[in-house]
Amino acid sequence: MWCPGCGDLAVLTAIQRLCRDEQLPPEKTVFVSGIGCSSRFPHYMKTYGFHGLHGRALPVAEGIRSRRPDLHIFVATGDGDCCSIGAGHWIHSIRYNMNMVVMLFDNNIYGLTKAQTSPTSLRGLKTNTHPRGAWLDPIDPIQTTLGVVNASFVARTVDWNPPHLLATLQAAHRHQGFSFIQIIQRCPHYTSKVFEALQREPSNVLLMTHPDGITVDDGALRAFPNQVEHDPANIHEGRELAEQNDAVAIGLFYRNENAQRYDEYTVEGIATTRAQKIEALRKELQQYEV
Ligand code: SF4
Repeated sequence: MWCPGCGDLAVLTAIQRLCRDEQLPPEKTVFVSGIGCSSRFPHYMKTYGFHGLHGRALPVAEGIRSRRPDLHIFVATGDGDCCSIGAGHWIHSIRYNMNMVVMLFDNNIYGLTKAQTSPTSLRGLKTNTHPRGAWLDPIDPIQTTLGVVNASFVARTVDWNPPHLLATLQAAHRHQGFSFIQIIQRCPHYTSKVFEALQREPSNVLLMTHPDGITVDDGALRAFPNQVEHDPANIHEGRELAEQNDAVAIGLFYRNENAQRYDEYTVEGIATTRAQKIEALRKELQQYEV
């Protein structure tokens, strides 16, 4: 279903490598998505999958997490799916910090429904809904995520650098919590020109490096000569790097291994036996006895 040259294919390759390297059992792995080009992701995987409703991937994934803490959960969502109709779920999911990897495929456009302005479309981008150019400045998914209380893993990568993409996915998978990755994703069909300057001129990208950040090989380091050391424990510096406009920062903005996780609460009682449930119900009903 994806067009030739679509950045979604690069992410698919990276994810399949991750599943192989980490030896994730297909029967213990689930991909959840909403609606959009990237939300077709579960169909390309030989694992469990749930291709859900527009904007609703995150609550579905949280439901799975609450009852099946033994599964590896990945969410594929797009800029339209996550940052527009699903924005309410996005904000609260950051705060819930349930253990899952969330891949935001950000191509700056609604691709599946043929080129409408999305919340991340750059101002001036001509689309079917704004033929004279998008009217408003876009939402920055990284700045938004870093602004929500209890954010625990916030990273950005690009689809056209396979080592950095894979290393970011690996770090996100290792993190115990809500691992949010904005993947800048090429859509050759509708926004072919949007990321050209980033791809062709590496100095437009700022690579964040740190021993606790995303570890990449020398090839990736050479591909992005414009670098800055950033400790991902420092959220204030992470916010500053997300806000600066000199170059697009990629790497790990923030990680907090100690953030509260709501799934540690929702899984309580999961192993309760039938007899224990009946006893708990009996005790509960006793308070209404007259
Ligand atoms: Fe990929 Fe764009 Fe084609 Fe959708 S429309 S499959 S995002 S290239």
